[in-house]
Amino acid sequence: MHSPPIKYDDFLQKFPTEANAFQFYQKSCGIYCPSCGDKQFSYLRDDKPYMAYCKKCHKEFSILKDTIFVRKETDFRFWLYIGYLHYRMQTDMIIDRLNIAALQRDMQGTTYKSLCRINRKLARWFDETDASDRDNLFASLHRIL
Ligand SMILES: [Zn+2]
Repeated sequence: MHSPPIKYDDFLQKFPTEANAFQFYQKSCGIYCPSCGDKQFSYLRDDKPYMAYCKKCHKEFSILKDTIFVRKETDFRFWLYIGYLHYRMQTDMIIDRLNIAALQRDMQGTTYKSLCRINRKLARWFDETDASDRDNLFASLHRIL
């Protein structure tokens, strides 16, 4: 089975906190306020770093809304990391499966079951042929790793 091109520990050097991962996501995806379309929509909340606040219309929204990413009980960095592994398999044209059991030993704070669920969703996303938002996101991630 495929061994990852980067260890989760090394990945975490770039994203010491989950908030760092959300900041990266916000920047590379060009998130805008769903109510007024403002791209300069101010800031992400400190206590809930996936919630953004728009100063123009005084509304809060989740930057993960209508994406495949689900925040619930899973660290966003798990999604980014496993997604990156899929991205690398795709760009390196490796046809293989991820060894989730081995990944789980390196990734603290999650369960095998939870990683399988994340992996299934991401694998399906990577099966789509036309997903420019996906490709842009992981290409910008690749540039900083
Ligand atoms: Zn707004």
